[in-house]
Amino acid sequence: MAEPYPYYLQKYETGELERIVEKLKENLKICRLCPRYCMVDRRKKVGICLQRDTARLTNYLLHFGEEPPLVRDEDGEIKGAGTVFFSGCPMKCIYCQNFGFSQLNLGRDVSMMELAEIFLELQERGAVNLDLVTPTPHLPFIVEALRMAIERGFRLPIVYNTSGYESVETLKLLDTIVDIYLVDIRYTDDETGLRYSKVPDYWTTTKRAIKEMYRQVGAFRENPFRRGVIVRILVFPEDIGGYEKAFDFIVNELSPTVPVSLMSQYFPVYKALNDPVIGRKLTHEEYERAVHTLERYGLIHGWIQEMGRR
Ligand code: SF4
Repeated sequence: MAEPYPYYLQKYETGELERIVEKLKENLKICRLCPRYCMVDRRKKVGICLQRDTARLTNYLLHFGEEPPLVRDEDGEIKGAGTVFFSGCPMKCIYCQNFGFSQLNLGRDVSMMELAEIFLELQERGAVNLDLVTPTPHLPFIVEALRMAIERGFRLPIVYNTSGYESVETLKLLDTIVDIYLVDIRYTDDETGLRYSKVPDYWTTTKRAIKEMYRQVGAFRENPFRRGVIVRILVFPEDIGGYEKAFDFIVNELSPTVPVSLMSQYFPVYKALNDPVIGRKLTHEEYERAVHTLERYGLIHGWIQEMGRR
């Protein structure tokens, strides 16, 4: 049987999408959606991500800054990703460029019907995918809105745009719903994650999560469909993230065919401005070293951001 595209169509047709929504909604009573496992009743109080029992977002737009195959159509025409920025985040990165909505919870609540309308509007405006940024705390509403949108003709593939700090149990519910995992590797040891993002187990957890993503969709490819994992690596001053260990993990525990998007755009904002290590911009030399290391590992399927571009 031919593979369905987007993935979620089969789950919609069999009625399984509804069952997944119900499972995701159980988390509103005792939330375990992400590896913070707050176990709070979100109808009464907020967990670490500050989210309650309603979807909340700051913005949605056609975004042209994502990786090339995520913004162009099959004919190569630039159309943009249909990006939705959700409020709140389980991580508390001191350098977060989106700290207003990720940590201060700026944004507005939207009903599931409104969210479905937004998905449809992005499709109508020509987006080539639905690019969900920091979606995890909002999953019960997103999947329900997706179901409503599918009923009205929504057919864009889903990009799950994440820090990588995800629970395998939640990811398993997304199996054959998400087509593309656009996932960061920020750090390659837990201590650094604790220092800069206030999570105690970033690397231990993220390694497991990325392996699950890879099990579901493999390495990103464009044919016959756009599907798979793309890993983003932001290069930090003093290489606090440890990119070589990340390259090693990708080559040896996933596959050298996984595209890596190497990013040079770090600049200090928010609480990083006064940090003694990352309170400065990346230098050209530091970035060149990262590029050479990437090449030495033979990771040739991705993209290398030019220095100075954001
Ligand atoms: S999604 Fe939010 S409330 Fe739920 S476990 Fe994660 S941080 Fe806690």
